[in-house]
Amino acid sequence: MRFETKAIHAAQEPEPVTGAVNVPVFLTTTYAQQSPGVHTGFEYTRTHNPTRFALEGCLAALEEGTRGFAFASGLAATSTMLALFDAGTHIIAGDDIYGGSARLFNRVAARQGYRFSFVDMTNLDLLESARTPETRLLFCETPTNPTLKIFDLQAICDWAHAHGILVCCDNTFATPYLQRPLSLGCDMALHSTSKYIGGHSDVIGGAIVVRDDVLGERLAFLQNAIGAVADPMSSFLTLRGLKTLAVRMDRHCANAQKVAEFLEAHPAVKQVFYPGLLSHPQYALAARQMDQFGGMISLELHGGLAESRTFLENVGVFFLAESLGGVESLIEHPAIMTHASVAPEVRAELGISDSFIRLSVGIEHLEDLIEGLEKGFAALPQRVAARQ
Ligand SMILES: *Cc1c(COP(=O)(O)O)cnc(C)c1O
Repeated sequence: MRFETKAIHAAQEPEPVTGAVNVPVFLTTTYAQQSPGVHTGFEYTRTHNPTRFALEGCLAALEEGTRGFAFASGLAATSTMLALFDAGTHIIAGDDIYGGSARLFNRVAARQGYRFSFVDMTNLDLLESARTPETRLLFCETPTNPTLKIFDLQAICDWAHAHGILVCCDNTFATPYLQRPLSLGCDMALHSTSKYIGGHSDVIGGAIVVRDDVLGERLAFLQNAIGAVADPMSSFLTLRGLKTLAVRMDRHCANAQKVAEFLEAHPAVKQVFYPGLLSHPQYALAARQMDQFGGMISLELHGGLAESRTFLENVGVFFLAESLGGVESLIEHPAIMTHASVAPEVRAELGISDSFIRLSVGIEHLEDLIEGLEKGFAALPQRVAARQ
């Protein structure tokens, strides 16, 4: 089966009693047994739930893995993944990972004895200089958030595996429709399904998909032992969103390409960050590693905080909100919003200035999106809008 078909059918047989074509929401904590220990294979929902299993099976098929695990949130998935490792482990992470992942690493996991190095993985030499004898995990996102750098997953995996280091790729931005980390050599593909996979900004969730049986067994144990599982209702909503991932992503990508080109040509815009633009330093790598370039765009305006505020307050159609990946377009100010928990000096190093803005381009009509952005530009002082 191809991707579009798997999204609708993988692990989603009609329900055997009634033939219902949708996997029901099995809202039950427990399952009746015929005799002590004689049961259907389902005992307790933290461990076994048919709705969650359907989501997990479908995600595993789409990521070209063998086992999927669904969690209560993306960060619940990351926390559970960290528990594969012992205190004292050194982890190399991307330098502009999701702000919440950085907070989990620096303010929770670091206290539990994990050590982290944050590295710009566009330069493989930096990986080698960060490596210690205790390095066991490399954790990366590509495209990165919010500067949309692209990391070469195949090259990173070759390097990591030569040193016995596991690789976990947070594939939230690309989704398996655009990029399949396991097939590029990664050991784990991790998701915040709250974003594109759910796709409708109405359900929080996370996932991990693996290929290796031993790793799968260890994660199954941890998912149950830690207990940060996806609940049946969230699993249902996520699975419903997942069915349309391919068609949504096609439109996200088509809209984003046109919006990026519009922004790049606008005099009030200093720089546009979008892997689908020829001006992106890793355009060629993105074109090789991804099937399309995604729905996320960042830009830097001419001017400072005042101009950014004016622009963000006046933009039409785009909601000023955190998060990303839903059908509706969102726009936000990373320095004040999503990346406020990142230390100011780190933000400065990454280039997340006061005039840095991130867009999650939705699937509305392109012309409405352009007109909405034009409203924001029109509100800017003339000298900025015309860049005199
Ligand atoms: C949102 C996000 C997360 C965290 O996911 P939650 O579901 O909010 O816990 C992790 N990684 C990336 C790239 C994200 O965008």
